[in-house]
Amino acid sequence: MSSQLMPIPEEFFAFENGQPFTHCQICNKPLLTGNSDYFIEKVIRNYPGQGVQDVVYEYAVCWHCAEENSQRMSEESLQNIQAYFNAQMAFLYQVQEYQQRWPEISNPLPDHCLVTGQSKADLDEYMIYGHFRGDQMVRSTMPYLFSGQVLDELGECLSEKTRDELDDFRDKYFGGPPELEELWKSRRPVFF
Ligand SMILES: [Zn+2]
Repeated sequence: MSSQLMPIPEEFFAFENGQPFTHCQICNKPLLTGNSDYFIEKVIRNYPGQGVQDVVYEYAVCWHCAEENSQRMSEESLQNIQAYFNAQMAFLYQVQEYQQRWPEISNPLPDHCLVTGQSKADLDEYMIYGHFRGDQMVRSTMPYLFSGQVLDELGECLSEKTRDELDDFRDKYFGGPPELEELWKSRRPVFF
């Protein structure tokens, strides 16, 4: 049986220094030593054909903080998001395929948006999300890639209450470079 773990792909390294994330963004717990589970979410601004990228925001959050923060979402928001994904047949199919085939997949990170199918190289903006343990990626959990369009649609699933909560939260713990403020102010962390 194949190992559930693999080295962390460089795409999930911190943009700032090109190294793996070392601490939980919220509680500051060290992530690389030991066996604790954590998640990384990054939104990349891409300039197709120019070979340059910016990061809109990026963070690593430990399992415990992720669990606590999912409770910030209102019932209504959670139901809307669930309904959104339940209607994405291509996405559901790829998740199912991945669950059956992950031991054979050597490069798990999708090269296209899992909802719209657009190639990563053609997207102005996209988000990647993955599950990690210590200095490894948990490859039995499918890493996601979503286009900016999907992030917008997910944003529309959120109730006003959840939006306010997430905005406060974002302002407290996150924050991108000032020159990209317009971008990251329009984005909320999605997955925890
Ligand atoms: Zn934490």
